[in-house]
Amino acid sequence: MADSDDPEPSVNISGGTSGGGVEAAFDPATADTRAEAVVDRLGERYWQKTYGGQDAFTCLVRTILSQNTSDVASQPAHDALIAKYDGDDVDLAAALAAADRDELAETISSAGLYNQKSRVIQETAEWVLEAYDSATTFDAFVKAGDPETVRETLLGITGVGPKTADCVLLFAGGRSGVFPVDTHVHRIYRRLGIAPADADHETVREVLEREIPAEKCGFGHTASIQFGRECCTARKPACLEDPEACPMADLCDQVGVYPETGEVVDPADAPEAEHS
Ligand code: SF4
Repeated sequence: MADSDDPEPSVNISGGTSGGGVEAAFDPATADTRAEAVVDRLGERYWQKTYGGQDAFTCLVRTILSQNTSDVASQPAHDALIAKYDGDDVDLAAALAAADRDELAETISSAGLYNQKSRVIQETAEWVLEAYDSATTFDAFVKAGDPETVRETLLGITGVGPKTADCVLLFAGGRSGVFPVDTHVHRIYRRLGIAPADADHETVREVLEREIPAEKCGFGHTASIQFGRECCTARKPACLEDPEACPMADLCDQVGVYPETGEVVDPADAPEAEHS
């Protein structure tokens, strides 16, 4: 199943410490909260790299391209767009704002909804040029500006929601303490019983950013997505058939997951949710 709105590749990506990312050490034995213990255990399983260092405008374009499609489809579109419009002596926002709309749509056709996406990309490029003069200046603002101001500014762009804003802060700004909540993160931490069963995305984000040390949030975000795809999937979490199959079994309340009957419901619809 395609993951419709994940703006990042399925493997962990990185600008490395040189790109503004932060190293983190994962030791489940010293975790202060259950949420941190989960991320530490994900670290033992998936840790590869640190975050930060991506160009902010490129990150936004990548996010737009990935909306309602899989990474497999959006990556070639992203690569084609960069090959055609980015260059050493050209500002990407200026090049995209000036691009022929049909040509741009054709370039990104593998991402689907290319007419709509080419329009949104051009409007975003025009917005960046108007407000910041260039993609480079916009990038500097995202990297150095006050995080709340940057977040509010990003949310002001048409088509940018909280998760996209947080991903740009994380992947471009290299900001620690940002734990974007996508559909996987939203599901997993409510199933675990770490966030309230009926929590919305913002509430789950607040819980995680409060309970997980800042330097582990970025990794926790991408690793949780990977974990949600491979293990704690929406319809068939690994524990459904084999209680031993999930590395989080001893940390998990299995809210809405019933191995006895094979049933799975959204945590908000689980009877025990009424008591949480
Ligand atoms: S025990 Fe089941 S519900 Fe809990 S995290 Fe693992 S797969 Fe998900």
